Amino acid sequence: MFEKAIQSYLKEKGHNKINLKAVLFDMDGVLFDSMKNHAKAWNKAMSLYGMNLSEEEAYMHEGRTGASTINIVCMRERGFNATEEEIKEIYQTKSDIFNSLPKAEPMPGAFTLLRNIKESGLQPVLVTGSGQLSLLDNLNHHFPNIFQKEYMVTAFDVKYGKPNPEPYLMGLKKAGINANEAVVVENAPLGVKAGVAAGIFTIAVNTGPLPNSALLDEGANLLFGSMQELADNWNILRNDLI
Ligand code: CA
Repeated sequence: MFEKAIQSYLKEKGHNKINLKAVLFDMDGVLFDSMKNHAKAWNKAMSLYGMNLSEEEAYMHEGRTGASTINIVCMRERGFNATEEEIKEIYQTKSDIFNSLPKAEPMPGAFTLLRNIKESGLQPVLVTGSGQLSLLDNLNHHFPNIFQKEYMVTAFDVKYGKPNPEPYLMGLKKAGINANEAVVVENAPLGVKAGVAAGIFTIAVNTGPLPNSALLDEGANLLFGSMQELADNWNILRNDLI
């Protein structure tokens, strides 16, 4: 069912097979239904500083580090970069607004998929641009016994962030594996771009308002309409992957 996508990945990257050992998960919009809140918070925070960043545009920046998003918008809206101080202040404002919104729920299907992956002996790895301090506690609360600190890449670990392949390459390194021994699960165009640039088979889940083409154009190897759909198809896909 998924052989065609797998064959074309192997051919393009020059691998004989995918020897699946780990699944690299993005967090916002994949494990948590949190993107609406992030988009709202970005829009409100930037408007407090007299700058325009629409909610729709926020989805196009999804995956970048906060600092990088702030710099891009500052440059466009007023013609010069933000200072370190300003970046800290704006990001804090955005985080405060985000934290004041109703807490995002886990994405339907996410825990089922994570449990299935863990129980079959594969290693779940988190690769997020998020810099939330309580991130691991929150993950453990909603997805107990799935994630471990040594298998997490967050905003604190990276210099460039997505769409640079850096975070996913670091995820591979933390798991001690090669690019053809993992798959990436991503919901954002820039996240897909990062996964593909890292040489990893990249599965897009379109959980937001963007058209499928936004994810496919960045090179997604497969696309599902939701995490539930990926969870429902996982056993078939895994059999094709190993
Ligand atoms: Ca995301």
